[in-house]
Amino acid sequence: MENVLLKIQNLKKYYTVGKRTVKALEDVTFDIYKGEVISLLGVNGAGKTTLSSILVTLHPATSGDILLNGESIYKDVNEFRKIIGYCPQKPNVIRDLTVEQNLTFAGMYYGFSKQEVKQRVDELIKKYDLCKYRHMKPYVLSGGYMRRLLIARSLMSNPKILILDEPTVGLDSNVRRKIWENIKDLKNLGVTVILTSHYLDEIEVLSDRVVLLHKGRVKLIDTPKNLMRDFKKSRLEDVFVQLIEEEA
Ligand code: ATP
Repeated sequence: MENVLLKIQNLKKYYTVGKRTVKALEDVTFDIYKGEVISLLGVNGAGKTTLSSILVTLHPATSGDILLNGESIYKDVNEFRKIIGYCPQKPNVIRDLTVEQNLTFAGMYYGFSKQEVKQRVDELIKKYDLCKYRHMKPYVLSGGYMRRLLIARSLMSNPKILILDEPTVGLDSNVRRKIWENIKDLKNLGVTVILTSHYLDEIEVLSDRVVLLHKGRVKLIDTPKNLMRDFKKSRLEDVFVQLIEEEA
């Protein structure tokens, strides 16, 4: 299909813990379309973090492949890294650098010129409302502003694909809503967003499609609207609860 950006093919990820093998992903296959917001959903231990960290190339799969425009990303992982942005759940900013320096450092990593980096830092500081913290170190930031810094940093490379791991965890409703608006803006700019969240309201509002992982497999994949219609529920959260109860 013309619209397919990433093809995830037969991904398996096995961890060895002592003498035990933990099968975190078991033959995961699905496509990600250009410009969609696609959410990974599943109970604790379903394999969401494992899948997103493989997509970010933090570690390789045990077997299987990921194709970008038909070519394996593993042919040139560094090229693939240039088009992905990653916003991790745990803040991993550099504590001794200011907000501006953290963003600048991330930009330099991608090999942009000084001028390009400065322009991008200025744009993102403005867009993510970080002006008053520009010259401060990250420890002064509240949870919401820290999240904004992490998202801004993940956008320094001007990525085509953005992977957001729990972008609003622990934030007030109003800050969550602002971050939702940011995610919608990114989608409107054509960025493909892969979202992991435990907030079903967030997934319902933001996602074009939802991938439900269960014990390392894709249990179903569909739009929130179709899922709510098929399960005769008015909220995605109720669909999820029913599915989990069925599995139990
Ligand atoms: P959560 O919602 O709790 O974050 P998740 O859906 O993201 O869960 P994963 O963290 O991907 O799930 O874990 C999938 C399985 O792999 C679990 O059984 C987990 O214990 C196991 N696992 C994850 N990382 C490791 C690791 N580094 N070593 C061993 N086992 C691991």
